[in-house]
Amino acid sequence: MRLVSFGDPGAERPGVLIGSDILDLREARPAWPSSWRGILMENLWPELESMVAGAEQAVGLPTVPLGSVRLGAPVPDPSKIVAVGLNYRDHAEEQNKQPPEVPLLFSKAPSCLVGPNDPIVLPDDAVENQVDAEAELCVVIATRGKNVRREDAMSHILGYTAFNDVSGRGAQYGDKQWFRGKSFDTFGPCGPWIVTKDELGDPSGLSLESHWGETRMQSGNTSNLIHDVPALIAYISKQMTLEPGDLIATGTPSGVGVFRDPKVFLQRGMTVRICLEKVGELINLVV
Ligand code: MG
Repeated sequence: MRLVSFGDPGAERPGVLIGSDILDLREARPAWPSSWRGILMENLWPELESMVAGAEQAVGLPTVPLGSVRLGAPVPDPSKIVAVGLNYRDHAEEQNKQPPEVPLLFSKAPSCLVGPNDPIVLPDDAVENQVDAEAELCVVIATRGKNVRREDAMSHILGYTAFNDVSGRGAQYGDKQWFRGKSFDTFGPCGPWIVTKDELGDPSGLSLESHWGETRMQSGNTSNLIHDVPALIAYISKQMTLEPGDLIATGTPSGVGVFRDPKVFLQRGMTVRICLEKVGELINLVV
């Protein structure tokens, strides 16, 4: 299944892609919570699966055409975004760092999330305007988990989506910790949808690219993650309870702008395209 959230910013509602239409769950099930988090927390997933199972056409179900609505981030309101630094060997090497022996975790404020066609808004300040993009595989959590064992980790996953860990390098390195530089409003493009784990299969071995305009900046593969998806879930959940809808941005391969010579940063008018195999493209205009 492909899961979306659609509608105006702050008022997105959950939907399921069926062909080129979106099944509107708020119309189909008015008594249900009107967010993916709520649906997952109330354990309505089995009922949803039976509603859409085998439905190649949404006959008799309330739908809207995919092209007629704004898509938001698939989970616009997660309790947390856990991000992972230096999780590809080539990305550690390009900044002359040893790959970390345990995952290097940081956070992005959930308020930075935007949808797959929303603009990335650059700040006016010249230092803070050193803004970079990072292509990432994003894991979406389905069920609450604490002290999850590696072998049980996949059972806590809803699916996967693409993520752009947009980074204000001036603030990130100037502050000596990363929270502010990673959390400017609009610095979390996510989407275009969640591909459920049953449809996507193994999350390792997916090609992952970023393009700025016509220039391909990054070309990696999730098989090169240092700490893979089950390892991340096990490590994070030792201290933090993972909640339905939580996002894990698993890290980025080499090729980001700040470690190039000369450095390059996003400019107004550029289009940033993140391509994740089996998921799709996340395309955001820089303004
Ligand atoms: Mg990153």
